[in-house]
Amino acid sequence: MTGADSPGRPDRGGSADSPGDYAADVAGEQREYAVAGRPDVRIHVRDLGLACCAVEFAAAIGRGLLVPAEPDSPGSAAVLVVSGTVTDALAPQVLAAWEALPEPKAAVSFGACSNSGGPYWDSYSVTKGVDRVIPVTTYVPGCPPRPEALVDALVSLVVPA
Ligand code: SF4
Repeated sequence: MTGADSPGRPDRGGSADSPGDYAADVAGEQREYAVAGRPDVRIHVRDLGLACCAVEFAAAIGRGLLVPAEPDSPGSAAVLVVSGTVTDALAPQVLAAWEALPEPKAAVSFGACSNSGGPYWDSYSVTKGVDRVIPVTTYVPGCPPRPEALVDALVSLVVPA
């Protein structure tokens, strides 16, 4: 059954047999942000929101902790934030998002699901930590972590404690 045949589901031109279509949509929805009020923190944050931890990422934006930024500005480090549940089906898209980032770059695993599989650690389809797919620089614990914890992790990447 295609999306066009499924009431309430947008037609992405794929089928129930091609979950990669959804993964491509996830990777294509990346946005970039900078830390508000910290011109010393020259990073651009690329969000890869996969599940409910992405709501906390959105809360950081809604509260003005992160602000929209132009992609890949010179002199800025790129940070991929993986927020939510990584599945084995999505892992190739996560890797592709990481490999597409320019150097220098870092990865933040935001929340228990991304860190280790979280509450779904024993699911056959859930990756037991995004560090099995990409090199992770910083882990943020919590289910979910608070938006401030995301900002602290981002700042810690470039400003020594
Ligand atoms: S860690 Fe908790 S809040 Fe975050 S994606 Fe997993 S279940 Fe959702």
